[in-house]
Formats: sequence, structure tokens, C-alpha cells
Amino acid sequence: MTISNITPPATIGFIGLGNMGYPMAKLLAAAGYKLCVSDLNAEAVKKFCAETGALASTRLSDLGQQSRVVITMLPDGKAVRKVLMEPDGVVSTLQKGAILIDMSSSSPVDTRVLAQELKIKGFEMIDAPVSGGVVKAVSGGLAIMAGGDSAAIAACQSLLEKMGKVFATGGCGSGHAMKAINNFLSATTLAITSEAVIAGEKFGLDPKVMVDIINASTGRSNSSEHKFPTFVLPRKFTSGFYLCLMAKDLRFAKALVDSVQESNIFVDAISKLYDDAEAKLGPMADNIDIHRYLEHLAAKE
Ligand code: NAD
Repeated sequence: MTISNITPPATIGFIGLGNMGYPMAKLLAAAGYKLCVSDLNAEAVKKFCAETGALASTRLSDLGQQSRVVITMLPDGKAVRKVLMEPDGVVSTLQKGAILIDMSSSSPVDTRVLAQELKIKGFEMIDAPVSGGVVKAVSGGLAIMAGGDSAAIAACQSLLEKMGKVFATGGCGSGHAMKAINNFLSATTLAITSEAVIAGEKFGLDPKVMVDIINASTGRSNSSEHKFPTFVLPRKFTSGFYLCLMAKDLRFAKALVDSVQESNIFVDAISKLYDDAEAKLGPMADNIDIHRYLEHLAAKE
């Protein structure tokens, strides 16, 4: 099936103007798309509309009616299902041929179910979660992992490219699976680098010297090269990615691993570590706070 390309000034519904959604939607407005936005946070909507001239939708059904594509950037797939499928939700008024793109990090299993329900109603859904954090959301340098119908992805390619580089991952749900796998790795390298640096410091090594050496050696990772110098060493626990969101992604990664193999060595332990940290520090702690949580555990020994 051919679907015409989604080019400016097509109207894009954008739901979720949080740490990531706000700068991502701003890039679309700057590229000439007409935006129709919604968020539970009325202040964020007001600020966004003042800055970009976007239309604020108080009713999701209005947003659905006007949009050629609807992008969701919400905490998880449960919130996405709610805004799309509730009786007066987006889908209740969606135009024929409209495309739904979930850029949140949602459960791959739930995404497949939702996409199937949407397909029966005649709508294509793409899961297109992102990696790169707030900095890359602002610069348009995100990695975008797009799963779904290839014609629908092709039609949205230039729209998505305003926010980052698009990688096609396969059928619907595969983007969310890839994102869960990436964040399993990302959370793991942060936690193990933290444990290593905390132990080295207790032994008498200087943390900054350690990170410089790790980054010139084989133990390096994005966590040691980026997160340690930017956030951990200056003790700025403000990356803009909440601990509760990372803990959620790890639960998705654990469910994915458990669904395909009998046992695992790392994902259970890492998921439990982040769940325990969230229980101790609260959901609004930053994901970088895992370092402070590990310091707290190390101090007790
Ligand atoms: P956030 O908490 O900053 O933003 C979420 C926004 O959704 C908030 O503004 C909230 O008011 C709004 N919202 C929640 N429920 C809603 C509903 N039912 N209707 C309308 N609005 C609703 O989160 P974020 O950091 O922007 O993350 C969004 C998604 O992107 C998450 O799935 C997260 O895991 C993922 N992600 C985040 C980062 C990051 O660095 N922050 C990086 C990659 C992926």
C-alpha cells in the first residue's frame, strides 16, 4: 500500500510535552508542521503554544479530528492506550488514513496488542522510541527505532528525521523491544561503572583520575564517557531522565528476556537494583541517582 509522505504543513497531533516531548515537538514546529498539542500539564501546553504558535487541544477528540499523524511521548504504553482508546480519545475522531506514532518507551508486548486493535479500526501504528536523552532531543540527534508497516514508516521518514536518525527494526513492537534492550545495557553500564568507581575510591583512588583512565582503556562505555563527566563527577543528578522511567524500561527488558529464554544472569539483578532504588529514592529521582543509591549501599557494608 502507498501512503503519501507526511510533509509540512501537515497537522501533527503531539501528546506529551515533558522533558523529551517538548523539545521534539519544537523541532517539528520549526520545520513547518502545524502542531496540535496536549498534556496533563497545562503550564507546559501554554508555554509551548506561546513559543511556537501551536494549537492547544483541551479535548483529545479535537486533536484526533485535526491530525494527519498523532505522536505520543508519554511515560508508558498504558498512558498511550488511555489517550488513544478512551471513549472521547484520539481514535474516536481520527481521519481515515491517519497514522499513530508512539515515541514513548512502552512495553513491546502491549504495543503489539494495541497496534492490532488499531489495525482493525483501519489505522497504522508505528512504535518509534528514542535514545539520546534531552540533549539530543533538543538538537534533533536522537536514535529513533521504528517498528511497524514499512509503507507507514516510509511516509513518516522525513517527519521523524526532523528529530533524529531513523532505524527500521521490523514489525510493530520491535522498536519498543529494541529500546528496552538498549536501556538494559545503558542502565547496566551506569550501575557497574558506579560500583567500580565507588570501590576504587574507597581503596584510595581519585574518581576523576579513574574515569580518565577508564575512558582511555577497555572499561569505557557511554556511561563512563558521557554520564560520569557530565553528571556523576560534578554531582549534578539532573539528566532529565527519571529513575522511575529507567526502572520501567528494565521491567520491559526483563519481561522480554524471560519470554524467550529459561534463565538470565544480569537482567533480573539490574531490574531489581533499579526497582529497589526507586522504592528508596522515589520515582522523581534522576536515573543518575543510581550512583548515590550504590554509594548508600556501599556505605552500609
Ligand atoms: P516526562 O515525565 O518528562 O514527560 C511525560 C509527559 O507526559 C508529562 O509532561 C506528563 O504531564 C504527560 N502525561 C502523562 N500522562 C498523560 C496523559 N494521560 N495525557 C496527557 N499527558 C500526559 O517524561 P520524558 O522524560 O519526556 O519521557 C517520555 C518517554 O520517553 C518515556 O517513555 C521515557 O521512558 C522515554 N524516554 C525518556 C528519555 C529521557 O532522557 N528523559 C530518553 C529516551 C526515552
